[in-house]
Amino acid sequence: MITFYPGPSKVYPQVADYAAEAIRTGLTSLNHRSPGFMEIVRETIHLLHQKLDIPADYHMAFVSSATECWEIVAQSLTAAGSTHPYTGAFGKKWMEYAHRIISPTSAPADTLCLVQNETSTGAQIPMDDLADYRQTFEGLIAVDAVSSMAGIRLDWQRADVWFASVQKCFGLPAGLAVLVYSPAALKRAQAIGERNHYNSLLFIHENFSAYQTPYTPNGLGIYCLMRVLQQVAPIAEIDARTRRRAADWYGFFDQGLPGAPGAFRPLINDSAKRSDTVIAIEGSETDIKALKLAAQQAGITLGNGYGDWKNTTFRIANFPAITDDEVDQLRRFLHTYRTGQ
Ligand SMILES: *Cc1c(COP(=O)(O)O)cnc(C)c1O
Repeated sequence: MITFYPGPSKVYPQVADYAAEAIRTGLTSLNHRSPGFMEIVRETIHLLHQKLDIPADYHMAFVSSATECWEIVAQSLTAAGSTHPYTGAFGKKWMEYAHRIISPTSAPADTLCLVQNETSTGAQIPMDDLADYRQTFEGLIAVDAVSSMAGIRLDWQRADVWFASVQKCFGLPAGLAVLVYSPAALKRAQAIGERNHYNSLLFIHENFSAYQTPYTPNGLGIYCLMRVLQQVAPIAEIDARTRRRAADWYGFFDQGLPGAPGAFRPLINDSAKRSDTVIAIEGSETDIKALKLAAQQAGITLGNGYGDWKNTTFRIANFPAITDDEVDQLRRFLHTYRTGQ
């Protein structure tokens, strides 16, 4: 069975060995304040800076999920309020969580919350648009890059906070998230001085400055992240491959399937806003259902639609752990599927 589900998604097969290694060598039984464990945290942060090209002065911490990051942004980094120009289900959910913590008021927002890659619809905010936000918005910019970080190159300086959980482009099991924050974000956290939660950013920051965590961390996840980062190519190479494969997918579906003209087409029309990492394809409920079933029978799992698009789209993850060979298999399947109809 091969899977194109956009999260949880295909895990790098090597992770099975990395996990066994972590347990066999006793890493998972190490005290998280011991030098051996702290060295793994230090090395993982170092590799993230190096492989993803994260600016040296941006800080980093590990938490448990992207959802937790939504709350951290609201509780520790937002003073007056946050604004959420969302385009899909994840952006909307983020707004709902944030507004439960800091109710919207008539005061201008001091935090702009953007979902760089809206996994539910396959729409993305291109880096040029992020630059426009940077120019026009005076406050802090926080970016959910859950389904794009480690899959495409990000212009880190164009936002203050970036986060991603690892079960998408990092090709790892869920339960760990990477939180990246700028010196300006830290300054904001210090000005607000929020220390009411176990995951208040100031606590997290103080602990991570010593390669420690406020609570017992997901050591297994951190170790596997370190091993995956050692294995993957630098982000420039990954970015080029992701974009090439995305262009191929959009080219394929833009043409329309000869056996079924107009049956399946990209959900997002504006090619500049189409995601490189999550390809969402729209069709009638009947066509989508038949295609997904046939794919399943051929040993291929396609991603279901999400939220409002649950039954009228399917999604194809274009994540780095998915091999070119697997992409070819899906292409061949779609080719015979359309000509066989
Ligand atoms: C998957 C996803 C999330 C949720 O991540 P969790 O690890 O479940 O908290 C948030 N935002 C986007 C864009 C996602 O794709």
